[in-house]
Amino acid sequence: MKIHTLVLGDMLNCSYVAENGSQALLIDPSWQMQVIYDLLERRGLTPTAALFTHGHYDHLHGAAKLLKKYGIKGYIEEGDVQMSALPAQLLHIFKGDYKAKLAGLDVEFLHTPGHSRGSVCIKIGLDLFTGDTLFPGACGRADLPGSNPEDLQNSLERLAQLPPETKVYSGHSYGPRDNGQTTIGHEVKTNPFVKLALKNLR
Ligand SMILES: [Zn+2]
Repeated sequence: MKIHTLVLGDMLNCSYVAENGSQALLIDPSWQMQVIYDLLERRGLTPTAALFTHGHYDHLHGAAKLLKKYGIKGYIEEGDVQMSALPAQLLHIFKGDYKAKLAGLDVEFLHTPGHSRGSVCIKIGLDLFTGDTLFPGACGRADLPGSNPEDLQNSLERLAQLPPETKVYSGHSYGPRDNGQTTIGHEVKTNPFVKLALKNLR
């Protein structure tokens, strides 16, 4: 699998294209869709599904058009369906942890609520797409409608149990040098929010 990172839109959202052979999964496609369309065309890729880390508008702004264009479904946890405002017929809705074989890849959705009710981290092998749950050195806001700080602590603690070499691809590129990417091991050692969650819960 090859992962393409696209930092798009005014809020520096990270959209990812996971390429496997001639198939692709689109993670949080939201802004500047033409950039995503061009990448798919250039690489000769057929998208199989879109996967949403959560239902906030900045992660799926233009997604309805994209889902219709390719005739694919958007995978989303049921807790964020309403907030997403995406029509149900374009969605594949699941509840809690969920596994699926998509684009020839074993995809694992870990339900990690806290930033929003339906936030998930998407695990493919040792690659983890964390949306707004975990950033390099930070975590997502827990003061929004549908947020829950305790849930977020539990979710961070859960992520900390993953193998340290797990590569993290977060939902925004807030740090100009890291492109929103880090590893679980680095965050367990250095991220104050992860350290606090581990301290409180152990
Ligand atoms: Zn968000």
